[in-house]
Amino acid sequence: GATMAKSKFEYVRDFEADDTCLAHCWVVVRLDGRNFHRFAEKHNFAKPNDSRALHLMTKCAQTVMEELEDIVIAYGQSDEYSFVFKRKTNWFKRRASKFMTHVASQFASSYVFYWRDYFEDQPLLYPPGFDGRVVVYPSNQTLKDYLSWRQADCHINNLYNTVFWALIQQSGLTPVQAQGRLQGTLAADKNEILFSEFNINYNNEPLMYRKGTVLIWQKVNEVMTKEIKLPTEMEGKKMAVTRTRTKPVPLHCDIIGDAFWKEHPDILD
Ligand code: ATP
Ligand code: ATP
Ligand code: MG
Ligand code: MG
Ligand code: MG
Ligand code: MG
Repeated sequence: GATMAKSKFEYVRDFEADDTCLAHCWVVVRLDGRNFHRFAEKHNFAKPNDSRALHLMTKCAQTVMEELEDIVIAYGQSDEYSFVFKRKTNWFKRRASKFMTHVASQFASSYVFYWRDYFEDQPLLYPPGFDGRVVVYPSNQTLKDYLSWRQADCHINNLYNTVFWALIQQSGLTPVQAQGRLQGTLAADKNEILFSEFNINYNNEPLMYRKGTVLIWQKVNEVMTKEIKLPTEMEGKKMAVTRTRTKPVPLHCDIIGDAFWKEHPDILD
């Protein structure tokens, strides 16, 4: 309150930097696993895509969206996740450090907390970490381009990794040989190698690997059992009750084209 006495030390607060995110802009926090190349190796991740790891990442991102305020969409692939705060959020007065540290710590603690649910017989060998950054986008177009950039990155890496690991796992090449084989190849060449040498049509690879994961808020019907006590009966009756909740739902769809944004115009309201 106004009458509260301030100590003579309080002036040190003025040394804190102002990191308020520019008003009315989209605030994006991107996290990325620290040294996950090693982490994946130590924890026997399947190559090129470990679906347990991807599902765990998404569970952590859902937890972040449910625990924190004002996140309207998230996008994840590999060891990274991006979270978009609504344009007019006033959470923690839009302080970048608050956004970034709350997202990173909630995500990292969830990763450890939920590990066992996804990696049943693979013990967690050491505490993983995540770096975070905040980027502010001034328009819907720049925000859409940001998300398109991450999904394009997912596609480029996944196409490369799919051929790279097929050459190693199915043709017996060493990593150095596989890398040499792919040097200077274009997307069409990689598709052709997959098709002619491995009978793989890249477009039939799982959507989660090719597109990454989009999380948006959607209404879902939840069926839960409720005990209903009737005055005429001693024991309560168990009844199935359906109620509607809004949850962060994972999609593996294209977000580069216009279709997604036309289908979900409310996200960028
Ligand atoms: P940095 O600390 O700089 O981020 P990094 O080793 O995490 O270093 P990234 O560019 O972030 O480097 O790459 C993440 C790496 O983690 C991938 O190259 C891959 O080896 C591994 N990885 C992450 N997720 C998975 C997954 N679901 N399945 C298999 N491997 C994965
Ligand atoms: P915010 O999210 O704004 O930080 P907060 O509830 O964490 O909210 P703080 O000002 O950080 O508020 O205060 C931390 C509170 O946590 C203390 O007021 C106290 O109630 C509780 N707390 C923290 N550490 C201990 C401890 N070792 N023993 C007992 N209580 C503790
Ligand atoms: Mg990196
Ligand atoms: Mg990383
Ligand atoms: Mg990464
Ligand atoms: Mg506190």
